Amino acid sequence: MKKIIPIITALMLLTSCGTEVAESGKPVVYTSFYAMNDFALTVGGGDIELYNIVPSGTEPHDFEPTASDMAKLSDADIFIYNGAGMEHWAEDIADTLPETVTVVCASDAVEVTDADPHVWLNLENAKQQLQLICAALSEADSENADNYSQRTDDYIAQIDAIKTEYENAGLNGKRLFVTHGAYSYLCDEFGMEQTALEGISGDSDPSPAQMAKIVDEIKAEGAKCIFYDPLDGDKTANAVAAEAGIEALPLYTFEGDGEGRDYVTIMRENLEQLKKGI
Ligand SMILES: [Zn+2]
Repeated sequence: MKKIIPIITALMLLTSCGTEVAESGKPVVYTSFYAMNDFALTVGGGDIELYNIVPSGTEPHDFEPTASDMAKLSDADIFIYNGAGMEHWAEDIADTLPETVTVVCASDAVEVTDADPHVWLNLENAKQQLQLICAALSEADSENADNYSQRTDDYIAQIDAIKTEYENAGLNGKRLFVTHGAYSYLCDEFGMEQTALEGISGDSDPSPAQMAKIVDEIKAEGAKCIFYDPLDGDKTANAVAAEAGIEALPLYTFEGDGEGRDYVTIMRENLEQLKKGI
């Protein structure tokens, strides 16, 4: 594997080492899971050949790649993953890829805490991750660098517009009850606090004691709802909601989306749900 390298070195590698270039002549970009795929598409548009490893409706935390996934990754020009403990398999694979694959750990662009890998749910972090991806694509394909920069700038303007909506939504000081502890970076950005039923991955079955504890906390707080990621299903959230006499509302982690929606669309939807629920 190699990290992002200077343009001249990259060009030398392209000519001397025969880096795989698609028949289309476009850089072949692989991403680990949905959020990274969406960011790469946003920046790369039609100038890259883009593939994703984790199917979009699948929970990425415990995903295991097949031998065929591994083989495909070896032929990539660029492999983009989030890191920060989100995709353990990707971190393992990144160390074994050939020198011809440029590996981009998108969370290198942001400050990471040990407890939560979901850095992209913070709007400022998403902007940093997009910029890192833009830099990597521009280095690998300098002819289209202006296109990558333009798309990134346009999208960051959209994120800034949503950020203003979040700031005006009265979120500061609110406590968020969630089944999947994925929102600490989002909470930090807008002065909220997260209380999660499950651990980080959202796929464990909570014990009756854990359920009883969060129901007590919800009642003590007078919270109106518990949020869940539709990717995990609503069963646990509905059980808590019924017990506490509140509502269960969706709040997307953007780890996958069957409808193929982009980051800004999902974050706008999340804001609408937050306004309803807190
Ligand atoms: Zn998660």
